Amino acid sequence: MKTTSVQWLVAISSLCISAHATIMVVATNETYTDRMAAFGPRLPEKGVFGYLAEPAEDPTGCHMVEAPCSDWVALVRRGSCSFITKVRNMQLSGAIAVAVGDTEPQSGWITMYAPGDTSDIKIPSMFLAQNEYHALLYLSKLVDSPMMVLLQLDQWMTWPLLDVLMILFVSPSIIMVFVYISWRLRQKHRHHLEIAPLDVVSQLETRRFSREKIRHNETEECAICLEDYMEGEILRTLPCRHNFHAFCVDAWLTAHKKLCPICKRDITLGFDATNEVTPLLIA
Ligand SMILES: [Zn+2]
Ligand SMILES: [Zn+2]
Repeated sequence: MKTTSVQWLVAISSLCISAHATIMVVATNETYTDRMAAFGPRLPEKGVFGYLAEPAEDPTGCHMVEAPCSDWVALVRRGSCSFITKVRNMQLSGAIAVAVGDTEPQSGWITMYAPGDTSDIKIPSMFLAQNEYHALLYLSKLVDSPMMVLLQLDQWMTWPLLDVLMILFVSPSIIMVFVYISWRLRQKHRHHLEIAPLDVVSQLETRRFSREKIRHNETEECAICLEDYMEGEILRTLPCRHNFHAFCVDAWLTAHKKLCPICKRDITLGFDATNEVTPLLIA
């Protein structure tokens, strides 16, 4: 049959949802690794108990057979017909699950997939590599009564490839978010170091502007808003003796920089300004 793009898509998506599982022989506690088919339901988390037996009439499972017992897990051989045909026939024969075993030594575990509609498959099925298949087949024939097994998803391999891919894509995004948040926190911390604390600013000297009491080297304009001082406006005097509107310089120091807008001195250092002569104000 010619492979169409749809079949390729089915094959790829089938690989993405494949998962490892195990068959545990309850009597011996021995486990045998297998791989879930891409079609049919997945095994429930608590697993499925059943009795493993090969269909005596047709070991390949390509035809309907009589169920050897209730809760029968069919152990069939690969080949002669498609995987889906085997699972469909065993489902019709009363099996609660199907394990398809490989007869080729080199194949390893493969994911059984089937193109087309597989919605009629209501039982889980899994693929066994040759070694596991032969061991289970041998054990199942060793005892007369059907051998009780527990089918379960492998604890460490239950993540399908799709989940792993999701994590691979999502993890860098999470790391990026962490890097961004820490960068923002560092920026905030740096900004915090660059501004003056409100309680320090509020303790700086203030006075009301009066044209009559204007000092010799004092300007009548606020260097921040470039407006002339109005009579009675509250000015704040920085330790460097520069004056500004109180509301202008308070906003500047507490939100922008802790430096005097004119002479760039740090107002938090609290230097003695009595001897300071500010060149800008020398007329
Ligand atoms: Zn101002
Ligand atoms: Zn200054």
